[in-house]
Formats: sequence, structure tokens, C-alpha cells
Amino acid sequence: MRYGVFGDIHSNLSALHAVWESLEREGVDDYLCLGDIVGYGADAKECVALLRELNPTIVGGNHDWAVAGKLGLEYFNIQAQAAIVWTRRALDDADIQWLGELPLTQVVGDITLAHGTVHNPPAFEYMQTPYDAHLSFQELKTQTAFVGHSHIPVSFFDGTPITYSIDWNIELGDRKCIANPGSVGQPRDEDPRASFAIFDSDTRVLEIKRVEYDIGRTIGGILRAGLPVLLGERLRIGR
Ligand code: ZN
Repeated sequence: MRYGVFGDIHSNLSALHAVWESLEREGVDDYLCLGDIVGYGADAKECVALLRELNPTIVGGNHDWAVAGKLGLEYFNIQAQAAIVWTRRALDDADIQWLGELPLTQVVGDITLAHGTVHNPPAFEYMQTPYDAHLSFQELKTQTAFVGHSHIPVSFFDGTPITYSIDWNIELGDRKCIANPGSVGQPRDEDPRASFAIFDSDTRVLEIKRVEYDIGRTIGGILRAGLPVLLGERLRIGR
């Protein structure tokens, strides 16, 4: 099976369209979404509608849960808080209910999905160090997991010691792996292109892919919506 893996869309419809078209061209068999559909950008309604229609296997992120009132605003910085409040007004009740009902973990075949970590999904912590990965590997029941949240593509491998790679084309072999495909709608690795992954569960090859999208259009939407200017500016530098 070839899986298209993507997350951290953050209400950026142009980026989501670009990624989805790439995945369709690649002819993947199934779609796995790591949450944070909304927050930061102005295309909340459109992104929720598209994902509800496309219906990938999906988990909820901290922004999704915050919009639905299941996570407090105090967990977010001031710009993120403004976007969450704005997003609540932009969505109708059915959309908000859908966000709030997104599960925090899913298992598909031999793959686990979570937004932050595998070991404590409701805490929405970042997996950034081998120690973070160690905690998740202790709980991981499948051979592979995908997480989002940090917006930085990186793959961790179980072992003593735990190792990691920022390569974009990796043969996982029989190693247990927890990988982050980067962010569709707000990359933070200084590459402004939308980020996603393709994972072949037969060959166990993981590819990180990048695709350009119309950043100016997304920024225009953020400004017109009256969202914090910084949320648009950071898209140009991918930080
Ligand atoms: Zn995110």
C-alpha cells in the first residue's frame, strides 16, 4: 500500500489543494491526515469542507480541539488564540462538532497516527528529541507511526541509542520508525513549500515531498480576515 501522509494544514486552502493534487498524481492508495486542519489561516471553512468530503483517516490536533472548546486557549500564544477565536466564528456548528469528534489516535494496518506524541496524545507535546521518541516507542504497538505538530519533517528510529534522520528519502527497513511529514499549511523548516510524505508499506520507503503553492493568495486571505499579520508573513520564510 502507498499512503499519502499529511497534516498541519492550518486553514491554508491553496497549500491543501497543491498537496492533494500531488497525491492524486502519485496515485496513492490511501490518505492519512495528522490533524490541525484549522488555526492560523483564513480558509477554515473551505479546508474543513474539503477534508470532510475527501474523508481521509484522520486524527485531531490541538487547534482543532481548541476551536471545538475541548482545549483551553491558555495553551496557545496570542496570535494562535486570535486565530482560534476567529475560526470559531467562521465555522458553523456542524463543522465545529466534526472537529471536536476527531479521535486523537488511529491505527491503520501497521501504522499509528497521532498529532503530537504516541505516548500522551491529549497533552499535544512535541516530538523533537530522541528522548521524546523513546517515550513514544515504549507505547507504540505498530511498526510505524506518523505524528505532526512540530511542522518539521524528521524521522526517529527505535534502538539503543534512538537515532533520527532529516533525509527526504529513507528506507525504513525493519526498524520501528516515528516520522513527521512536515506541515502542509505552515512549514517551519525554512522551506516555505507545502510538506507531506508518501509511505510505501511494502518497500518501507518513506519520501518527504514538497510542493509550491500560491503563498500570496493565502497571505491575502489572512490580511482580509483581520488575522495577525505575522501569521501571513511567516509563510514566506517557512518559519
Ligand atoms: Zn500545527
